[in-house]
Amino acid sequence: MLLRHTSAEITERKALTINPAKTCQPIGAMYAALGVHGCLPHSHGSQGCCAYHRSALTRHYKEPISAATSSFTEGASVFGGQANLLAAIENIFAVYEPEVIAVHTTCLSETIGDDLPQITEKARRSGKIPEGRHVLYASTPSYVGSHVTGFSNMVKGMLAVAEPTGTKNGRVNIIPGWVEPADMEEIKRLAALVGVDITLFPDTSGVLNGPLSGEFHMFPEGGVTIKQLKSTPDSIGTLALGEWCSADAARHLDSLFKVPCRVLEMPYGLKATDRFIDALRKIAGVPVPEEVNLERGQLVDLISDMHQYFYHKKVALVGDPDPLIALVEFLATVDMCPVHVLTGTPGKRFEKKIKQLTAGMPFNVNVRSSADMFLLHQWIKNEPVDLIIGNSYCKYIARDEDIPLVRFGFPILDRVGHQYFPTVGYKGGIRLLEKVLGALLDRKDRDDSEQSFELVL
Ligand code: SF4
Repeated sequence: MLLRHTSAEITERKALTINPAKTCQPIGAMYAALGVHGCLPHSHGSQGCCAYHRSALTRHYKEPISAATSSFTEGASVFGGQANLLAAIENIFAVYEPEVIAVHTTCLSETIGDDLPQITEKARRSGKIPEGRHVLYASTPSYVGSHVTGFSNMVKGMLAVAEPTGTKNGRVNIIPGWVEPADMEEIKRLAALVGVDITLFPDTSGVLNGPLSGEFHMFPEGGVTIKQLKSTPDSIGTLALGEWCSADAARHLDSLFKVPCRVLEMPYGLKATDRFIDALRKIAGVPVPEEVNLERGQLVDLISDMHQYFYHKKVALVGDPDPLIALVEFLATVDMCPVHVLTGTPGKRFEKKIKQLTAGMPFNVNVRSSADMFLLHQWIKNEPVDLIIGNSYCKYIARDEDIPLVRFGFPILDRVGHQYFPTVGYKGGIRLLEKVLGALLDRKDRDDSEQSFELVL
């Protein structure tokens, strides 16, 4: 009973968070920056912040994460970090030779009020940024928002290099949101199957799920290139996957360069993938290819074959708003009951959206944004569930309440597979259901009496 002090009695709390369901903005900014080819993320703050951001990503992706820091000490904390950042930019380009440095702020540099646009401009004017190299930046104070906000801010920051030529190139920008590298690969595969040329940004495939080759490459092969980012205003449209992660950048492109955008849900599950494929099909002006229809049919077949095991099973979910919205819709599609849905990221729109998705369903849903995992545990104590879906921190609740857990989201610290197997698209939907079904049936096998213990489903 590691969480034995969690009581079932719920008291409204305003100034206390217990077991947060979010992490800090720069982690999201760093993950997004790693999806740019030849980019070295840079944390403008203390060494401790940078070490935390890097280790959070390393533990999830099981890959070494390279990042630099402005290395604040007492002097920078009092007088500002401009001198540190200018020296860092000069040293990083000289020593590591990245094509891009992506600077994000931290709580400390934001509180001091360091002005990244001004410092970056000063670095450019004083010749610290070599010709053809770039410095991107994003403001990522962790006392507002969450890692999701930091991701979104850095993706928007990437558009600083955008350079319209005035001629459309027939491509479509896809902003995938914070999904796994394998998901980014899957989105590219689906777009290629439908026949749409895309610019995916950011793109961490080939960066955080690369092979062990025996050779060290400071900058892996993958990532969206600066050339591709420059040409984003020439695209014929933008699909933003997820309101929280991707919409800001898409709307920025639209308002600055008149690139029409559509904001869709992340393509987790049947209906959200249908909408994604339909959007691609309309852009390409082609029918849905047979191979994609086949994958969809396989997912529908699995749903119908296994429906009896999903039917009315109660689920508690915790994670980030964009994936949760798509996941709740998916669970409702297979007649499961997402009764507790919680995110640490702020945004009342999240609660409204989940209520819309579950309206008219035969269960009441507890939904909360800006909430913590202590509250989730209390909800579960008051209304037990058959399954928990969430990150590795859920294992404490799962163990204490003896409930099966499917790991999904960020961070997953104690399992592998999320880097390699997509959960977006129809094939991803099959993988998600396979994981859910495996957890439910393992529990059934454990608990069934000898008379009802079945070999065959
Ligand atoms: S001080 Fe702020 S930026 Fe640094 S690790 Fe903590 S929350 Fe993140």
